[in-house]
Amino acid sequence: MFDTVRENVTARQAFENYGIKVNRYGMCCCPFHSDKHPSMKVDTRYYCFGCGEKGDAVDFVSKYFGLGLKDSAIKICEDFHLSYDEKSYVPVQKTEPKKSLLLKFEESEKHVYRVLSDYLHLLKKWKIEYAPRDVNDEWHPYFCEALKETDHVEYLLDTLLNGDISDRAFLIADYGRRTIEIERRLKELGSRDKEENIGSGRADRKREICI
Ligand SMILES: [Zn+2]
Repeated sequence: MFDTVRENVTARQAFENYGIKVNRYGMCCCPFHSDKHPSMKVDTRYYCFGCGEKGDAVDFVSKYFGLGLKDSAIKICEDFHLSYDEKSYVPVQKTEPKKSLLLKFEESEKHVYRVLSDYLHLLKKWKIEYAPRDVNDEWHPYFCEALKETDHVEYLLDTLLNGDISDRAFLIADYGRRTIEIERRLKELGSRDKEENIGSGRADRKREICI
């Protein structure tokens, strides 16, 4: 099972899957010490130049969620839909620590933040890509949505980053369902984009003509 995880899931994939943003230089803020500027390098393994934490995907999940190594490997297999030899694993309920409320809160918070960031990114893209080219053009629904939602989503993200804990808890409770809707929609749009890219030659040409 550990081999399955090592062969299939890099530390970076695990970080991103559990809501830690890794920048294009492969760096992120270390989740294990108070880190304002990215000081952790994440690739197949991770290493923090600040506090010296290091390891692979299993070590990360173990430390991050407070699980044993075996439970961490199982969690990764399940979350990444990898099959593993179940016979070699006998679940022992007692040893699995219960997630504290705070940990659960932090997880939801990271999740909401990630979904809203993706959404904001998309809105900003739409604002440019679907902007009317001519005064007589009818406004594209994506463009209207971008105009309507951008400020609000920026405000929500700002609250998550800078608000006090009660504001954040309120936002997460209030915005939980909407986040699930947005996430579902982003996934749909993502798979539609992929389909469109199969015939992308045509789409690109069309876009060029528009510009
Ligand atoms: Zn660190």
